[in-house]
Amino acid sequence: MRKPIIAGNWKMNKTAEETKALIKDLIPLVSDTDNVDVIVCPPFVNLATAAEALAGSNIKLGAQNMHFEKSGAFTGEVSADMLLAFGVKYVILGHSERRQYFGETDEGVNKKVKVALQAGLVPIVCVGETLEEREAGITSEIVCKQTKLAMLGISAEEAKGVVLAYEPIWAIGTGKTATADDANDTIGAIRNAVKEVFGEDTAQSVRIQYGGSMKPGNASELMAKSEIDGGLIGGAALKAEDFSQIVKF
Ligand code: PEP
Repeated sequence: MRKPIIAGNWKMNKTAEETKALIKDLIPLVSDTDNVDVIVCPPFVNLATAAEALAGSNIKLGAQNMHFEKSGAFTGEVSADMLLAFGVKYVILGHSERRQYFGETDEGVNKKVKVALQAGLVPIVCVGETLEEREAGITSEIVCKQTKLAMLGISAEEAKGVVLAYEPIWAIGTGKTATADDANDTIGAIRNAVKEVFGEDTAQSVRIQYGGSMKPGNASELMAKSEIDGGLIGGAALKAEDFSQIVKF
């Protein structure tokens, strides 16, 4: 059985004070959900505040990105070691907004995945197709290719520790959601791509989230699907009540 994993990607939202307040509201709402891994990913500058506010709770801390180098002249970037020092356990890699606005490539994502695994961080690797790719009927091809490239050169054992997130780009922040059946089929194709590279055991172990306008109203239908192991939540992660309802799907 794969343990469900619900992660909130706060993106560029919330000041330090707002971070404290949101976490304070969230903790009691999800304190009885030990059967689900619950993660919040605030912006870098609020990781220390978040770590302090989360202390003693069942919510884990994640980051939204990291650089693959250990240190050096990379203005504006942070390393895996820096994240670990804040108590960060998870790191989102290859989010479509990073790919679209900051030029992230499959090759760069792969470097980050390797460094994150070596450092002991759990990578949450995002894959997803554009609307044009979907309409061209090449969704599976695109997401399977992204998956294989992101995981290139890691071992089957390491691959088990990667979390994948299927996020159709056209569904992110738009209110449009893939139907539960569509999401399940595409996630099944991603799992099959993992199987082709690493074998059945790894494919059955790896957790694959759905992301894209997931909210209290559609979480239970999505989570009921056999291939969907969790959610990567944007907008709805910014309200404690909404996020907690998704966690309780
Ligand atoms: C995301 O950006 O990872 C995401 C899924 O956003 P939203 O839930 O707002 O669509």
